[in-house]
Amino acid sequence: MKSVDTETLIIGGGITGLMCAVFLQSKGRECFLLESSNRLGGRIRTDKYRQFLLDRGFQVFLTSYDQGGAFLDRSKLQLGSFSPGAYISDGKSIQLMGDPLRDFSSLLPTLGCHTASLSDKWKVWKLSMRLKQASDDEIWNATESTSIEYLKNQGFSESMIERFFRPFFGGVFLDDQLSVSSRLFEYLFKRFATGLAALPAKGMEAIPKSMSQHLYRDSILLNTRVASLDGDQVVLETGERLRAKRTVIALDQHAACDLMQDPQKPAFRSTKVYYYSTLQCALKHPAIMLNSTGRGRIQHLCFPSKAQPAYAPAGYHLASVTLSPMADGSFGDLDADSVREEAEDLLQLGTSDWEFLKSYQVPRALPQMQSIPGPGFLQLKENLWQAGDHLSYPSINGALYSGQLVAEKLID
Ligand SMILES: Cc1cc2nc3c(=O)[nH]c(=O)nc-3n(C[C@H](O)[C@H](O)[C@H](O)COP(=O)(O)OP(=O)(O)OC[C@H]3O[C@@H](n4cnc5c(N)ncnc54)[C@H](O)[C@@H]3O)c2cc1C
Repeated sequence: MKSVDTETLIIGGGITGLMCAVFLQSKGRECFLLESSNRLGGRIRTDKYRQFLLDRGFQVFLTSYDQGGAFLDRSKLQLGSFSPGAYISDGKSIQLMGDPLRDFSSLLPTLGCHTASLSDKWKVWKLSMRLKQASDDEIWNATESTSIEYLKNQGFSESMIERFFRPFFGGVFLDDQLSVSSRLFEYLFKRFATGLAALPAKGMEAIPKSMSQHLYRDSILLNTRVASLDGDQVVLETGERLRAKRTVIALDQHAACDLMQDPQKPAFRSTKVYYYSTLQCALKHPAIMLNSTGRGRIQHLCFPSKAQPAYAPAGYHLASVTLSPMADGSFGDLDADSVREEAEDLLQLGTSDWEFLKSYQVPRALPQMQSIPGPGFLQLKENLWQAGDHLSYPSINGALYSGQLVAEKLID
């Protein structure tokens, strides 16, 4: 048996496992991080392709996230941010629904945005005031319904729900039905109202990379897939066996079920993004554009390089177009030209200079959860623990929270 002289083995080098490891080591506790792939970061990956930064699935870091502490040095991430709010395209006109209190230049377009009635704008303002005052505990303990029921109960107009909330939060939750818990809606609405959606200068993967700087190099074992658990032993796919006093499973829910030979197949939300290079950014503000036509396959599009110039080489912009899955969960066989043509309809501008770079389909992007938040972590046996975004709430912040919480319990 390979002997690992450590107190804790952490299986999975995504944000949850990383947070657990850096926290334990910061308290002088030894641990090893076992990661099956050749990089840390899990679902947060960035590829450099022809000098463009391509995240594997469009995702953002909200500056109002409160987890990660000193292990997530935001100044080193050099965040570039999107404007609050979004462009709304109905295929005939483009409106800007901004937040004039934070971006004064959006005042006039926002006042003129006819997707939202005066009463909708008042309700958005009231909701953001209420949620800004509410503690996270109050939000997590509020009565739970689906987000769509919640929005209807708040009295928003059909136009506001269908043209703004559904495409916007459908993109955030990867759930066009808005069947996700109203608690997550309130939590993220508050985060969007108090922070900005941002991208690090070296891509989203800079987040796990910067966290890993806090770990002892020799405590990270890459290309190390755990095949099974056998009592207090961790069995690698190579057949080697490791033993530690405690083991933390910090895997996505699917991999965790596989490892524990649990026959249940957890449900996930999926996404697909197409990236293009272009010479011009068609939008004045660095805001996301929502598809509010009620048709087509595009959920939203944006120019990440407008928010974070480092995403494209000098003289170019990066266009990112995210699709919704079809009713059967698949993405069909849309080719990059058809996606570009649909984007052209939304932007109402020619896209002939767009050159397709790459697309990424992510079948297991976000876990589907019945109720949110989860318990944060689970103690499965005396020496076996489990953490992950599926045990808190699906997001980077949720993964950070879960990783730290389980580490604190191990130290107790
Ligand atoms: C396309 C997409 C868009 C998203 N958008 C956002 C967003 O905008 N904002 C936001 O906050 N969050 C977003 N998220 C969610 C966020 O990225 C995740 O919640 C978070 O990264 C989950 O981290 P984790 O460590 O819990 O899990 P994971 O990142 O899944 O980490 C699990 C790790 O375990 C490893 N592993 C698997 N099996 C084994 C094994 N047998 N042995 C060893 N290692 C193994 C995997 O390789 C992986 O590194 C998005 C996610 C995706 C995919």
